[in-house]
Amino acid sequence: MLSEDIKDFGLDLGYSRVGITTADSFPSYIEELKARYEMYAWYIEGSFQPLKGAEPRIIMPSAKSIIVAVYDGSKESFPEKLVGKIGRLYQSRCYLAPRHRINGARRQLMRDFLERNGCEVAQRLVVPERLTAARAGIVTYGKNTFAFADGIGSFILMTAFIVDAKLKYDEPTIDVECPPKCTACIDACPTGALYEPLKMNPRRCIAYNSFMTQDSLPAGTTTDIPPEIRDKMGTWIHGCDICQEVCPRNQKRLKAKLPENEFLAKVAKDFELTKLLNLTDEFYTKRVQPLMYNYIREKKYFQRNAAIALGNTGDPTYITDLAKAMQDPDELVRGYSAWALGKIGGSQAKRILEASLARETAESARKEIEAALLTA
Ligand code: SF4
Ligand code: SF4
Repeated sequence: MLSEDIKDFGLDLGYSRVGITTADSFPSYIEELKARYEMYAWYIEGSFQPLKGAEPRIIMPSAKSIIVAVYDGSKESFPEKLVGKIGRLYQSRCYLAPRHRINGARRQLMRDFLERNGCEVAQRLVVPERLTAARAGIVTYGKNTFAFADGIGSFILMTAFIVDAKLKYDEPTIDVECPPKCTACIDACPTGALYEPLKMNPRRCIAYNSFMTQDSLPAGTTTDIPPEIRDKMGTWIHGCDICQEVCPRNQKRLKAKLPENEFLAKVAKDFELTKLLNLTDEFYTKRVQPLMYNYIREKKYFQRNAAIALGNTGDPTYITDLAKAMQDPDELVRGYSAWALGKIGGSQAKRILEASLARETAESARKEIEAALLTA
């Protein structure tokens, strides 16, 4: 009875699917993460602590069930101006939403309901959500490593609640439901991050490079994005949707005529990469933070990503904006703007780079300018 009440409450809150599985550990997940430690050290050693989450009873010995809820992040259309720049799940503001935002409040309401019904709910324990949802019978896998909910697609967010109540478990659906010959996602991945079905190297993924390359993140992360990856980032500044966009399992939703989201439409109205590059406090507060509060902690990383995106357009009309960014107080912004100028090239870009080199004192920016001068 409680199991059905939980599901009904979740659906009433706006989740699209709710499933329940045991709180047993996830041995295959643990094995896979450990086997690919080099690729995942930043995640294993980071604040999410996934190896602990994969054995819920070590942290919470009374754990008996995991409730997983799927939120459909693609119920409304995405503004053209933001597509290809910000991943759809970030645009839908459902990922890592704080409690004072609607998606964080929904998570909190679900937790409150469970507690009101006598459940102890684990605090801060991050289970492997895709696998948990598959074990709870509400998603299947795609070869691109994403989870797909039937009738929705992969633009979904899964939220798990570990509780001490014994509930009615659903039939697992840990299957890959792709057409057998399809490799569209692997073929489309610009960086080769998807290197075989169900295997992704996050270090090569555009999404990882857009937001996990910050100071003070754990185990081997740096602010440096290898030039070879920068070249392939296109105009993505937060996330990357390419392997989901090409997927036949997402086409129905991507091609559907969906209602416009008024808030997104408003944010998108004056959203320009050049404004992100030479970022004012006002643009940051009104246009960046409402959508991208998830991972990037400092303005300079948005500016860096905007510089890469502008460089990748190859469009000389952006040289003036990049020249302005060469005066930015932050050497990271100057360095990546130099890269972008080198990528756009031409005599005007070269002159700006030479003038910048003459006054540049920061070692990292100097190196970027020198390298850019070789290609400009
Ligand atoms: S998100 Fe982008 S870079 Fe990452 S695996 Fe998918 S297509 Fe490749
Ligand atoms: S693109 Fe093809 S192989 Fe990749 S996840 Fe979609 S259906 Fe599966």
